[in-house]
Formats: sequence, structure tokens, C-alpha cells
Amino acid sequence: MAFTRATGKHRRPGRAARTTRNIAGMAAATGVVVSIASPALAANEDSAATTDAGLTRALADTGDRVADNIVAQADAQEEAAEVAAARTQVEDAAVKSAEAAKKKAQEERRKAAAEAAKKKAAKARASRSQARTTLSPSGFVAPIAGSYVSTGYKASSGLWSSGSHTGIDFHAASGTAVHAVGAGTVVEAGWGGAYGNNIVLKMEDGTYTQYGHLSSIGVSVGQKVSANQQIALSGNTGNTTGPHLHFEARTGPDYGSDIDPIAYLRSHGVSV
Ligand SMILES: [Zn+2]
Repeated sequence: MAFTRATGKHRRPGRAARTTRNIAGMAAATGVVVSIASPALAANEDSAATTDAGLTRALADTGDRVADNIVAQADAQEEAAEVAAARTQVEDAAVKSAEAAKKKAQEERRKAAAEAAKKKAAKARASRSQARTTLSPSGFVAPIAGSYVSTGYKASSGLWSSGSHTGIDFHAASGTAVHAVGAGTVVEAGWGGAYGNNIVLKMEDGTYTQYGHLSSIGVSVGQKVSANQQIALSGNTGNTTGPHLHFEARTGPDYGSDIDPIAYLRSHGVSV
């Protein structure tokens, strides 16, 4: 059977040649090697047809490969962009992290400074407080440090022979240090009846102070004492209902010459 060429077929080689050039160009550009056998353009119709079909496949194949290659390149570019973006993110994160660390360090320094200032202020307060519980400007102290008056002056009670309190009681457990409220001389140190073990001091200004219900006496008559010197330990001796320090201020050495001890201490700058 005779083979009749289709009209368009005569143009095929031309198209194929153009395509080949194009493929060659693409191959050069993309690095894809296309091998086209020269018998493709042979006179043999079957061979030409076969070759033509082969070329079409080759073209399709090449097109696919080019497309694949382009996709691969696009993928690679996309990947590179992603890597760059990720790097940028990492760099941004690093910068942000560094800034955060810097801020944190600044905050910690600020906190440390505030804490130091706080401690310094507390120390200064403690120092001022210590000064208050040691000596007043006129050189006096409370007889029991850090205590309070549990029974006031002139308080009424059947406990006292006079019917009213001749001094003030400072809250104190037995064995608490008792201090001379100011500088003076010991004029009495020993048993004092209802006062139990007691000490009487003649102060430098001529007034007297008395300390009662002591558990132990640490000074003797005639001894000079300074303000805030420990002279005894508090206790529960004599006529008491429990341990405390009984403190009196007097104009003379004996019972009955008592004056208001709170006013006396305050007049000497002691906070009671
Ligand atoms: Zn008392």
C-alpha cells in the first residue's frame, strides 16, 4: 500500500529543525543534553515517521525535563528564599534575644541597686533605733531594753501597801538584763522587803532610781555605775504576781519619795 504523505508532513522537518535548534538552545541554557540521531531526517518514510515520532517523544521528553528542571530551579530558589527567611528569622530572634538579655540584665542591676538601697536604709533605721535604745541625748536609757510598761504609775491595787503603785512595771521575763538608767552611785543593793531583791542608785543630778523584784544583783553599795551598765537580772522576788522589773524614780533614797517615773525618764529623753 502506497503511503501518501499528509500535506503538513513536508513541513515537519522544518519544524523539527526549528524545534531542534530551540531544544539545543534550551539544552545549552538548561544543561539538558538532547541527543537527536541524524537518521531522523533520512529519506525513508518509515524511518522518518519513526524518527519523527521519536523526535516528538524526545521533544516531549525534553520539554518534561526542561519543565522538571525549571520546577527544580524554582524549588531550589524557593528553598533558598526559605533558608534566607529562616536565617533572617534566626538573626531577628538572636537580636531580640540579645535585647531581652540586655533588658533583663538592666532590670537585675536596677533590682540589686534597689535592694542595696533598701538594706542600707534598714541598717540606718536599725542604727537610729539602736541609738534610741541605748543612750538618750542626756545619757539615759530605759532599764529594760525593748520592753514596755505593763503597769503604770499610781495604778490602784491591794497588792501595794500604799494602795497605789509607787513606780512602773516593765514587762520582763526572769533573768532579763536590768540597766542603770543613767550614771550614778549604788546606795542600796540587797533585800528590800516587798520589793524583794532591790537596788537604789543616787543619780548624778541628785535624784534616785530604784529597781525591784530582782533575781540577781550585780553591784554593791558605793559602786559607781554608768548609764546603760547592766546592774542586775530581773526576777520575781518580793511581793509580786509574776516576773517583771519594778522601777521607781525618787527625790530621796527611801520609800515614799517617789515621783512619776515615766515623766522622769521622758524628761531625760527616754521614750517610754
Ligand atoms: Zn511594780
